[in-house]
Amino acid sequence: MKDDRDYKLDLSPASGVTPPPQPPAAQSTQRPFISVHFTCCNVYQRIYRAPDGKSYRGQCPRCARSVNFPVGQGGTSARFFRAG
Ligand SMILES: [Zn+2]
Repeated sequence: MKDDRDYKLDLSPASGVTPPPQPPAAQSTQRPFISVHFTCCNVYQRIYRAPDGKSYRGQCPRCARSVNFPVGQGGTSARFFRAG
């Protein structure tokens, strides 16, 4: 079974609107995330780092089961986790 509901973004600017300049350290565009496999529903979901930078928080897209992966000392190099 395949589930690839990709979000397609339409970035075409509205007429007359100037996009704001990108700050040098645009952390909003480089927000780290991990991929989590929710075994409860056998579904994958990207989970983004919390604003405090101390954990990755998210929830299962189907049953809303919440997960919380704390960021270890020096961060983690792992990009894939399993929950459930
Ligand atoms: Zn679930």
